[in-house]
Amino acid sequence: MFPDEFEYVEAESAEHAVELLDEHATEEVELLAGGHSLLPAMKTGLSSPDVLIDLGSVDELRGVSADGDTLSVGATTRYTDFLDSDDAHEHAPAMAEAVAQVGDVQVRNRGTVGGNLAHADPASDLPAAALTSDATLVALGPDGEREIPVEEFFYGMYATDLAPTEMLISVEIPSASDAVGAYAKKPSPSSGYAMIGVSALLDVDGNTVREARVGANGAVGQGVLLPSVADAIEGEALDEDSVAAAAEHATEDVDEAMLMDDIQASGEFRAQLLEVYAERALLAAMEEASAPAAAD
Ligand SMILES: Cc1cc2nc3c(=O)[nH]c(=O)nc-3n(C[C@H](O)[C@H](O)[C@H](O)COP(=O)(O)OP(=O)(O)OC[C@H]3O[C@@H](n4cnc5c(N)ncnc54)[C@H](O)[C@@H]3O)c2cc1C
Repeated sequence: MFPDEFEYVEAESAEHAVELLDEHATEEVELLAGGHSLLPAMKTGLSSPDVLIDLGSVDELRGVSADGDTLSVGATTRYTDFLDSDDAHEHAPAMAEAVAQVGDVQVRNRGTVGGNLAHADPASDLPAAALTSDATLVALGPDGEREIPVEEFFYGMYATDLAPTEMLISVEIPSASDAVGAYAKKPSPSSGYAMIGVSALLDVDGNTVREARVGANGAVGQGVLLPSVADAIEGEALDEDSVAAAAEHATEDVDEAMLMDDIQASGEFRAQLLEVYAERALLAAMEEASAPAAAD
């Protein structure tokens, strides 16, 4: 399968990429990051951009750095480079757990953190972790930079708050170095994408959960937070009973009429998976929280 013809332009900088987006605003334009969602879509005719702007040479968009209380992740940072960063594991444990479960080694060697979030595939692994990590997405457009809280970023299936002339330049994650992160996913047997994936970030004091954020991919058209699960586990001692009881709240925060219902799984099955994987994510976080004590 071959894509339709398109104009290819190599961006020299983030500003140059935005100039190009603005210049071609009346045409269909795509940014080429890792290409692992875009190129399959182009080859199958689902996407036929007139212009392709390649971000591959823009070094300023790549890299992970920790500055004070924030982990800054350049939009075109590849998954594998994120996972190679000690700072990423220390400051963004929920993101690190989710990134580690994206696709396979080949996908992780090419795909990018920003491309994943900007693409907003409901079955992607990163939206829920970005939500539990309380990330801020930084967009660059013709009028300069704009910070978008993650809870305002995802609009629905493949839809985000980014304007057509804006691009994502970085993901800013408040340091969660005192917390434990986990991601539990039921992968699609055919693609490995999340049929359901649940991300948990727990701040644990001794064995008691001080603060919790829990979110899910694959349930509805966009990543969502599950505050009822988080509320149910906050203040509780972490054990199998408290985790199971909290996970029972998993469907309270999703509109059951909006549950994805497709060839992979019915909405009813996804609702069941949501509870099961909420429990697994919390259990994984519990194990992580007890790991240092076990090592003593
Ligand atoms: C075999 C296979 C298995 C996969 N399995 C999984 C999986 O298990 N979990 C998972 O989460 N993903 C999976 N993926 C998808 C993969 O993670 C993609 O890399 C990701 O969805 C998109 O990132 P990218 O960098 O490749 O973006 P691209 O494919 O280059 O771009 C995707 C879209 O995002 C836009 N875009 C890219 N960068 C920016 C930016 N900086 N600002 C604004 N818009 C931008 C592009 O215009 C395009 O519309 C899989 C892909 C393949 C091919």
